[in-house]
Amino acid sequence: MSHQFGPDYVRAIAPYQSGKPISEVAREFGLDEDKIVKLASNENPLGMPASAQQAMLAVMGDLGRYPDANGFDLKAAVAAKYQVPQDWITLGNGSNDILELVAHALVEPQQAIMYAQYSFIVYPLVTQAIGARAIVVPAKDFGHDLTAMSAAITADTKLIYIANPNNPTGTFIPAGDIEAFLHTVPANVVVVLDEAYNEYLAKELQYDSIAWVRQYPNLVVSRTMSKAFGLAGLRVGFAIAQPALTELLNRIRQPFNVNSLAQAAAVAALNDTAFLNESAEVNAAGYVQLTAACKELALEYVPSCANFVLVKVGNDDGAGARVNLALLKQGVIVRPVGGYGLPQWLRVSIGLPAENAAFIAALKIALG
Ligand SMILES: *Cc1c(COP(=O)(O)O)cnc(C)c1O
Repeated sequence: MSHQFGPDYVRAIAPYQSGKPISEVAREFGLDEDKIVKLASNENPLGMPASAQQAMLAVMGDLGRYPDANGFDLKAAVAAKYQVPQDWITLGNGSNDILELVAHALVEPQQAIMYAQYSFIVYPLVTQAIGARAIVVPAKDFGHDLTAMSAAITADTKLIYIANPNNPTGTFIPAGDIEAFLHTVPANVVVVLDEAYNEYLAKELQYDSIAWVRQYPNLVVSRTMSKAFGLAGLRVGFAIAQPALTELLNRIRQPFNVNSLAQAAAVAALNDTAFLNESAEVNAAGYVQLTAACKELALEYVPSCANFVLVKVGNDDGAGARVNLALLKQGVIVRPVGGYGLPQWLRVSIGLPAENAAFIAALKIALG
């Protein structure tokens, strides 16, 4: 009989399902890679900024050396942009790294981590990986129910994840609600405010979460360079929190978790306001294009403040998988969300106008 390795809670983890790579879909369905449209991973359809590409070329000659373990230039750029001291910043290999670091640093096996139903899949993954207990608070209108979350805090709750806007639903929590929530959270419970899609927020929705970091020593704001900044393949994210928490996170961070190319590219992208503005504009136009098609096809969708839309493609629990397969056969990759408990829905990243049009045309065929 073969030996079973590892703790039960690790063996129970369902592996993360990423968006299918273009090359894999091309092989599997016998399609031309150039004709495939990928709207599955909330990547920036403009690709990476040219400024970041140039910055990477400039450091190519130095790759024989280790990266700067403290990420001095990148922290300086983050500090300047968000107006915080450098010892309030933790760099991550993507913000997934940050989300994981926080749990490792703060939570023991059996203690509780809280998150909302239909929120980012990495929260349950991290919770399971460290053998913690999940408190999953039912969603309200596909988003976070902060009143219920506040009421569900137990004596052993150590960490609460909140995604704003949320993935995969795109829902948004207004600033006033977050502020009221933070006020109710005990000082020994850490809140991670995961703002991966913050840069897409319309002007009237924008808020100052860094001001809350100054006010609350138990708040971590998490940001990523993977979405609006266009650097998903390089893996850069960062956390902003007061020094006591930041110091703890940096103790267990891998010293070289952000590589030299990524650090250089991130500095350039952080300062590339023109690219960021263009990304937000392309996204806003694409949102109008996709939601107009949903209305035309009488498909329900969840109003989104991010760079994707959650669309209901049928009333039976096979609908998401069925329509997804029909789209794949036409070379359109979107994200089924059955793993989130949403088997009737598909999450569609907002692309360039032609990509959105290709999705809409394929969807019409897929729905018959
Ligand atoms: C995409 C996403 C992230 C970012 O992940 P990276 O590891 O930085 O690429 C974080 N949180 C949420 C909610 C996301 O959707």
